[in-house]
Amino acid sequence: MFALQAACPERLDSKRLLFLDVDGVLHPLKVRLMGQQQLDTSHCFNPGCMDELRRVILQSGADLVVTSSWRQFETARNVLAKNLGHYGLRVKDWTTTAGGESNEARVDQILSYVTALDLEAWAVVDDEDLAPEALQSSEGMMKMLFRQHFVRTDSSKGLDKSSADSLIQLLNDEENV
Ligand SMILES: [Mg+2]
Repeated sequence: MFALQAACPERLDSKRLLFLDVDGVLHPLKVRLMGQQQLDTSHCFNPGCMDELRRVILQSGADLVVTSSWRQFETARNVLAKNLGHYGLRVKDWTTTAGGESNEARVDQILSYVTALDLEAWAVVDDEDLAPEALQSSEGMMKMLFRQHFVRTDSSKGLDKSSADSLIQLLNDEENV
C-alpha cells in the first residue's frame, strides 16, 4: 500500500469530491441542549443515513470534504472523523471558514475550492437550500453551475435513498464538471 502510494499517487488521489454537510444530512436536524448547555449528540450519525453515505462513496469513489459548521471546532471535527471511521469513511479535507457561515459564504467557499482543482466530478449535499432559485435575470453563472451539483436533503430525515441516488448520479457524471 505504501509503495503503491509512492509509485502512483495520482491514482489514489480522487478527482471526485463530495462536499458534505452534517446536521440534517447524517442525522435528522434536532438540536437539544442538556443541562449546563451541553450539546446532546445522542441522535447524531443515524445508521440509515450513514449507510447511504457509505453507499455513495463506494459507488462513486469520491472523497469527502466537510462544509458543515462541525469543521469549526477541533472537538467536533474529531467526533465527526471518528463516527465516519466506524463506517470505513474518512474526511479528506474541510472547506475554509473564511467569509463566515452564511449560505452565500458556504457557496463561495465550495466554488473557490472546485475552481482551483481539475476535477472529474463534484457534488454538494446540504439540508439547507444553499443556492435558491432566483429570477433568471439576476442569476450569476456560478450560482447556476452550483445548482447543477447540488442535492438537498429533507432535514427531518437526513440522507435517504433518493438523495443518495442523486449524489451517485452526479458523481458518476463526468460531463457535469
Ligand atoms: Mg445542515
